[in-house]
Amino acid sequence: MKVYFTLFGIACATIACATPDTKRDIAGFSYTADERLTHYVTEFLADCGNYLSESVCKPRIDLTVTVSKLPDNILGQCSVYEGRLRAIQLDDIVLNQYNEKAVIYHELYHCVLGKPHFDDELDIMNTYEVDENTVRMYENWSEYTKKVFTRE
Ligand SMILES: [Zn+2]
Repeated sequence: MKVYFTLFGIACATIACATPDTKRDIAGFSYTADERLTHYVTEFLADCGNYLSESVCKPRIDLTVTVSKLPDNILGQCSVYEGRLRAIQLDDIVLNQYNEKAVIYHELYHCVLGKPHFDDELDIMNTYEVDENTVRMYENWSEYTKKVFTRE
C-alpha cells in the first residue's frame, strides 16, 4: 500500500461523521463519498473531462472518500491499495475551511489519477499547503487545476 500525506502545521479539533453516498459507473469506476464531499468528486471528474479522456478520468477503481481524525499536521491522505481500492481521508479540521477544496482536489489527483507531489512552485500538488498560497490558487483555480490535469 502506498500512502500520500498532505501536511500542514495545525492542530485538530472535533470528530465528525456522515452518511456515505455511493455512485457506481458502468465503466467500472465507483466511489463512495461522505455526502459533504460528494460535490467535490463530481466537480473534479467534470473538470478532468475537460482535459483528459473518460477512461483516464474514471479508471477502474473503487474510491472511498471519508472524513476522519488524522494525526497532527496531516490534512488529507490518499491510500492506494493492491487491486481497485483507493481511500481518501480528509481530516475533520479541514471541513468547511478555506483549504477544504484544495485538499480534496490534491487527494483526488493522487488517488484517481496517480499524480505525484510537485513541490517546485505554487501548485495544488505541493506537499505543503500554506494559507495565503491556497487563497491565491482559488483566484485562478481553473489554471491551477488545468496545470495538474495536463502535467505528464
Ligand atoms: Zn499529497
